[in-house]
Amino acid sequence: MHGKEKLKKSWRETGKALFLKKSRNHKSDNLSDLLEKDKAIWSKAFDQENKKEKVVICADERVIPRKGEFKIGIAGQMILAGKKDKDNFTRNWKGKIRAVRGHDGCGAAGVAYSKLSKTEKSRFLIKTKEEFLDYDPRNRVSDADLYGAYHSYLLAKELDAEFEYIGFSEMRGEKEFHDARGIFWSADPTFDPTDLLKDNYLPPHFLANGLAFGLSEKYCREELKILTGIALGNHGFEKLFNKNPPFYVVNVGKNLEEAKKMSKIARNILGEHKDKIAFKYLST
Ligand SMILES: [Zn+2]
Repeated sequence: MHGKEKLKKSWRETGKALFLKKSRNHKSDNLSDLLEKDKAIWSKAFDQENKKEKVVICADERVIPRKGEFKIGIAGQMILAGKKDKDNFTRNWKGKIRAVRGHDGCGAAGVAYSKLSKTEKSRFLIKTKEEFLDYDPRNRVSDADLYGAYHSYLLAKELDAEFEYIGFSEMRGEKEFHDARGIFWSADPTFDPTDLLKDNYLPPHFLANGLAFGLSEKYCREELKILTGIALGNHGFEKLFNKNPPFYVVNVGKNLEEAKKMSKIARNILGEHKDKIAFKYLST
């Protein structure tokens, strides 16, 4: 299938998610009554019992946690975060994370790699040759993905966690583009809505919940901007989004007040795209 046709097919498919229809008919930005109405479904997003293993994986909508895992979604497993954020995270979560898992075609790794100078790039490639010999997909991934993998490997070591790496075959969605129809921007450490992809309730979505795990608001604001930019840009559905159907930015707070406040912040950050975004918020 031609790339454009593939994109349109995926747009049609992802557009069938019940959440999109329900949100369209839902006039308020506050999703509380939708949560109440579909309580049995939404309770799975807050269910901690069946998600005991925390994994640090990309906020990317194509990277979803495995059964029993809770997704800590941070772009490129924190590859774009500053030292202070990384140190904070390590201090708080060392020994409590099961795995740090990198993935093929990581946009965040691409951004981080492109920021390196020529000398830094060649130094990195030599270094990984010496230090990263046991990493087996190294011969098939791009240099940027190798950079992302190496970052994840080092972070896993710091956290006393397993390092893992997955290829496209273990991801959902398409290799060529992002099919996210929304983003959950969450400050609630109990919230992971991955299970709601089942039965076509939620559409594919980014999950950025660094705020819930102690990353700075400064970093998380920037990350929200980057991820929304990807979905609304030419690596995502781009022009297919408009006032109706919009891209959904769903703010999740530990309480309704926090969720509402985040929604206001998101509106400010994403002002340039406001005609293509519906801002919603929720809390348990
Ligand atoms: Zn990624």
